[in-house]
Amino acid sequence: MGIDALQGLNSAPLQTFKSYTTTPVQPNSVFTVQRNAATTFAQLCQAVVPDAKAVQTAPSTELKPSRIEFTPAGSMDEAAEYAQNLGVENYNMGDDLETANYVNEALTNLHNLYGGDVNMFPNIEVTDTVEFFIYNSDSKTLKINPQGFAENRQETDQFIKESMVAESANKNGAIGAWYHRALKGDFDMVDYIDKDFQKEVFDTVQAYLENPDSFDDFEATELEAMLCDMTNLSVRFRSTGNLTFERGYASGSKFSWIYHEYAHRLQSESMDSGEYRHGIREMSKADKAIAMRITEYAGKNYNEFTAETYKALINGHKLPEDVMALYKKCNGPQLP
Ligand SMILES: [Zn+2]
Repeated sequence: MGIDALQGLNSAPLQTFKSYTTTPVQPNSVFTVQRNAATTFAQLCQAVVPDAKAVQTAPSTELKPSRIEFTPAGSMDEAAEYAQNLGVENYNMGDDLETANYVNEALTNLHNLYGGDVNMFPNIEVTDTVEFFIYNSDSKTLKINPQGFAENRQETDQFIKESMVAESANKNGAIGAWYHRALKGDFDMVDYIDKDFQKEVFDTVQAYLENPDSFDDFEATELEAMLCDMTNLSVRFRSTGNLTFERGYASGSKFSWIYHEYAHRLQSESMDSGEYRHGIREMSKADKAIAMRITEYAGKNYNEFTAETYKALINGHKLPEDVMALYKKCNGPQLP
């Protein structure tokens, strides 16, 4: 499935877990999963049940609708139940309901992307032992540190306010001047970076300055990632005389963090452990130059390149051919 199909998902009919009930199952019978209200023929989902034992052992995914509309939970118990319905076995989110809802919404997006047939994270936990996110392929656990995002947000906030507000923009270096020229529609200051990308980043900065509270910690950190890529990478590419950096692909969604970790899960499940570990070797110079067209972090090693590229694809970016060729070489996960 390509990007067109991803866009198509937006218009697919929406269903929620909570609106479903199952009728009692008899051996060798047909049972239905149906909506509580206003059931129509099209909304019925039928499956043949061969015998009672098979019902007990059948993967629960068979009962899941292919598309679910996310609804935020009102309590931790509700959030845990929701995640378990999506296939998470151990869900240890402490008492952080906001992060639990954030994670559940990202998992719902993955569920919908794969039409319900998703290789879900078995274990998810909050911890202060990681910086932001990590997928541990040995314990099959997605680990999240919301505090890391909260702290990073404070730094982002300070950086944006000090660098971009009009009175200090010129005092605080090129980024402020760049921002104010871009606001007037002048994108020639760094003319080898895609104008749409500059506009997207600086429009987001402007929205942030107008209403910082409308950004949660994940969105604010995503904005910082975009800004860093646009500035660090542009300087680096210019200083090496290699002007192949037209835009970065960090942008797109506050759920990018989880999509990135999900790529690690898919990769670690499809490769043997030696092959997966081989992915953390240093990249060749040529491959690194290609990888860093995606994001700065994608240049870290082959596994990070793969995860960053998968994330960009989920976010709907059409990527350069050399990037996709390297992604294929790395056995990057196919999108459905
Ligand atoms: Zn990673």
